[in-house]
Amino acid sequence: MSIERDVNDQPYASPPIAHGGPSLPQERRLVTEVPGPRSRELLARKRAAVPQGIGTTLPVFVTHAGGGVVVDADGNSLIDFGSGIAVTSVGNAAPRVVERVRKQVADFTHTCFMVTPYESYVEVCEKLNRLTPGDHEKRSFLVNSGAEAVENAVKVARHATGRQAVVVFDHGYHGRTLLTMTLTAKNMPYKHRFGPYAPEVYRMPMAYPFRWPTGPENCAEEAAAQTIDMINKQIGAENVAAIVIEPIQGEGGFIEPARGFLPALAEYARGAGIVFIADEVQTGFARTGHLFACEDEGVVPDIICTAKGIAGGLPLAAVTGRAELLDAVHIGGLGGTYGGNPLACEAALAVLDTIEAEGLVERAREIGGVMLPRLRALAERFDMIGDVRGRGAMIAIELVVPGTNEPDADVTGEIVRRCHAEGLVVLTAGTYGNVLRFLPPLSIPGNLLDEGLTILEKVMSSL
Ligand SMILES: *Cc1c(COP(=O)(O)O)cnc(C)c1O
Repeated sequence: MSIERDVNDQPYASPPIAHGGPSLPQERRLVTEVPGPRSRELLARKRAAVPQGIGTTLPVFVTHAGGGVVVDADGNSLIDFGSGIAVTSVGNAAPRVVERVRKQVADFTHTCFMVTPYESYVEVCEKLNRLTPGDHEKRSFLVNSGAEAVENAVKVARHATGRQAVVVFDHGYHGRTLLTMTLTAKNMPYKHRFGPYAPEVYRMPMAYPFRWPTGPENCAEEAAAQTIDMINKQIGAENVAAIVIEPIQGEGGFIEPARGFLPALAEYARGAGIVFIADEVQTGFARTGHLFACEDEGVVPDIICTAKGIAGGLPLAAVTGRAELLDAVHIGGLGGTYGGNPLACEAALAVLDTIEAEGLVERAREIGGVMLPRLRALAERFDMIGDVRGRGAMIAIELVVPGTNEPDADVTGEIVRRCHAEGLVVLTAGTYGNVLRFLPPLSIPGNLLDEGLTILEKVMSSL
């Protein structure tokens, strides 16, 4: 097939089949084994064309998605408990996103905001400044990925403070660039043989209630005291530019820090002139039953990094923070060719409208209200479930060898394989690979949420 088109060609006709979005039939439907023959064929092409370093969780090739389902090339319709890793929180091909992006793509697709700006970028920043925690004066700028947002937040903090050290935590995940890979805790698969890493990064204990040596009651206080002591003694507070932390850790296993830990760190940072950076790349935009997870304990970060749920799947990320920090950087010191692309900005504005119009913060709480009791009941029946945790539509179970705290990655992998075969998209997480995490789109219909949980119950009973 030629890729050249004559300028006089008619525009491409719309496909005659149903589009994605919520109008897709909201049902689980398996018409072949998973993956089916068409997906297996495409997987073979992938193997020949794409390096194995780019992994695959569930090798079905997608043709449509929306509401609470993902439809593959063989016609299977799978229940989505992944949202493309917490990205399509408003749903795939959400109507407002489709409408605004469609209009924008016909108007203009790029100018580079640093060359000739456009209004939608400014509007996204105004909204982020207003909606993120804290009523202080703020500024925002836009980049392309979560990693880029975190990396830029550190650049700003270093520039504004004139300090270099960055404090991060056990089980933290912040991205795959040199700096953010260094900030990330886990060696395999993120860091292995990719060194040398960036200098001046210091890792502290995480207030992980389920695994805290002296028990969950002491966790927040002891973890905060140890962190503060290590900063003071080993680094020197006056050398620390920033503390970077996820308010609920994502890839590290949906670890909710023991209550009190985040406020204690934020207060210490304020007193020591350290920039407190919340990495809300995974937790942001209604996912946890708040617009931002920091709100749960009333924590006001100096800088907040957002990405994943911000634009319904179009690549966009943001750095939002105190005006005096972000304005400290000289003219031209921040930016990038594609940052705040006009299509992505329109999508973000549509996402924010959708969250408000459809009450998605409340919807995330309802989803948690359905999932948590059912998973806790499951934990009563199966002692391989060591912990049930999470907030809103960011929920996980941690799997252990029964009667111990020992992580069981094998049983986790087996559960995931069986869920996939039954047409339920679930993801794993955790430093020990023993966490099953659930991130349904907030647009998932209640019956599919129930059905997904029923599949999980059946799979666990079948082990
Ligand atoms: C996914 C993620 C990142 C990295 O985002 P990318 O868009 O993949 O670069 C950073 N921090 C957290 C908490 C994440 O979940």
